[in-house]
Amino acid sequence: PVILAIESSCDETSVAVSNNGKITANVIANQTIHENYGGVIPELASRVHQQNIVPAVNQALKDAGLRKSDLTAVAFTRGPGLLGSLLVGVSFAKSFALALGLPLIAVNHMQAHVLAHFIDEPRPEFPFLCLTVSGGHTQIVKVNDYFDMEIVGETLDDAAGEAFDKTAKILELPYPGGPLIDKWARSGNPEAFSFPEPQIPGLNFSFSGLKTAVLYFLRERVQADPVFIENNLADICASVQHRIVSILLNKVKKAAVQYGISQIAIAGGVSANSGLRTGLEEMAKKQGWKIFIPAFQYCTDNAGMIAIAAHHLYQKGEFVGQDTAPMARMEF
Ligand code: ATP
Ligand code: MG
Ligand code: FE
Repeated sequence: PVILAIESSCDETSVAVSNNGKITANVIANQTIHENYGGVIPELASRVHQQNIVPAVNQALKDAGLRKSDLTAVAFTRGPGLLGSLLVGVSFAKSFALALGLPLIAVNHMQAHVLAHFIDEPRPEFPFLCLTVSGGHTQIVKVNDYFDMEIVGETLDDAAGEAFDKTAKILELPYPGGPLIDKWARSGNPEAFSFPEPQIPGLNFSFSGLKTAVLYFLRERVQADPVFIENNLADICASVQHRIVSILLNKVKKAAVQYGISQIAIAGGVSANSGLRTGLEEMAKKQGWKIFIPAFQYCTDNAGMIAIAAHHLYQKGEFVGQDTAPMARMEF
């Protein structure tokens, strides 16, 4: 099948094409307007999706070297995400499919982050564990099959991406701060400052304490030295990143032992983080894991992952009707 897939759950308007399971286009239009506000403004996000979606669809078809008449199906992200943003993609996909007489495929965004691992080689074998770390979620997922996934651990408060973004905000770095913390951390000492690791039972996570710890630590230091942040930015970023990564990887290690699984994947925007990538590689050597790290373009929000998920839903004959509505909250 040749599937056109649309992703509009947050602030990226993305359109991809999968041609028999191979991604032949993956257009991602980032919304820069939110940088001015320190976070995604839902009302603005949906308006920008409206402006971006038609050009992104045309560009994706062009990149894939296809005409509309070559398509077999249309896929879209149904949820979870911002309702106004989802509505743009869902409504567009429904009208587009209706006009072309094509079947519709609805995709769960969080399953798609995991299924990004089936775009390129090497592909994990079932069952495997996936640490999905993004702007809104932090989950350890036991992946039994393409659409048989169990959340075995998750955050009780902030997501890992939020921990990065909120720290960046305290440091007055622009939104989204995750990639900037990563950049500064490269030249810093991860052991310069020590932040506490929360003691949360089982496989769950908590990041709100870290944010508060960073806030209080900086408040105290800045009081004594007004240029403390400017003079120590790299060390602060490296230390906070080091702690976020250790919180994540210690739970993954625990999950791997508990389930006796040694194939470990990471997914979601935070899986682009260089500290997490090298930390996982080091732990994998010690633990004897086989690890799976997605290409950068498939870490943060992208329609390529929606297209690959849709390809597998197509194989199962799972189509939806024109009455399908977006879901801001959506379970697996
Ligand atoms: P969700 O998937 O939970 O609905 P989302 O779609 O907004 O949330 P993604 O686009 O998958 O999330 O990821 C965005 C997050 O990833 C942001 O919090 C961003 O700061 C973070 N991020 C991206 N690159 C990096 C990086 N190199 N280091 C740390 N964090 C990063
Ligand atoms: Mg985003
Ligand atoms: Fe996402």
